[in-house]
Amino acid sequence: MKIVAVQKTSLIDYPDNISSILFLSGCNFRCPYCHNKDLVLDRLPKLDEKEVIKDLKSRKKYIDGVVITGGEPTLYSDLIDLIRKIKEIPLLVKLDTNGGNPDLLEELLSLKLLDYVSMDVKADLENYSKAIGVEIDTDIIKESIYTLKNSTIDYEFRTTVVPPFYNDKIARNIGELIKGAKIYYLQQYVPKNTLDPEFENITPYPKKVLERFVEILKPYVKTRIR
Ligand code: SF4
Repeated sequence: MKIVAVQKTSLIDYPDNISSILFLSGCNFRCPYCHNKDLVLDRLPKLDEKEVIKDLKSRKKYIDGVVITGGEPTLYSDLIDLIRKIKEIPLLVKLDTNGGNPDLLEELLSLKLLDYVSMDVKADLENYSKAIGVEIDTDIIKESIYTLKNSTIDYEFRTTVVPPFYNDKIARNIGELIKGAKIYYLQQYVPKNTLDPEFENITPYPKKVLERFVEILKPYVKTRIR
């Protein structure tokens, strides 16, 4: 596992908590609109994990928890050890995931190592492979969604609304897919520093279109624009 960056304080990345963010390098997806090029393409040097934990310990009075994000943290089975060390401090742990490793997600949940999970839902199942830039067996995504919906911890699903991968029909299909989930966030797309430079030319939907998606999703899941 490779921790490549630490953001010491964030007020917005862990709902209702002050957090530090750990960024893990590498990702199994290649979403063309991704903003984390250096992480996905694994271009940054590794930080010393012991130093990272020592630093978190020294700041435990000032933060409530740690957000582990990427890239994609669930690429690494030694994520379990890292989270154990953070929980021992003790600090809360929020995991950001693309849902690509339901087995590890399930294991982390059964070990009670997670306090909050945020999972990206990139598109409806029909458009998933296009949205993530690699072929995927969408049963993997369905399993991660199922696992979270059946967990007892706090979680959210979220989608960055990128016009080629989101419309009324896709909103409805995603609604069906995550029906009854605790909360679903739509995030506005910012066309800057994208993995595929072509995606910098895509104009995001205006807010009123996002509001229409919220209306479409209403019968399925509580949805908010973030
Ligand atoms: S946006 Fe896609 S490519 Fe970028 S880190 Fe997330 S899952 Fe990986």
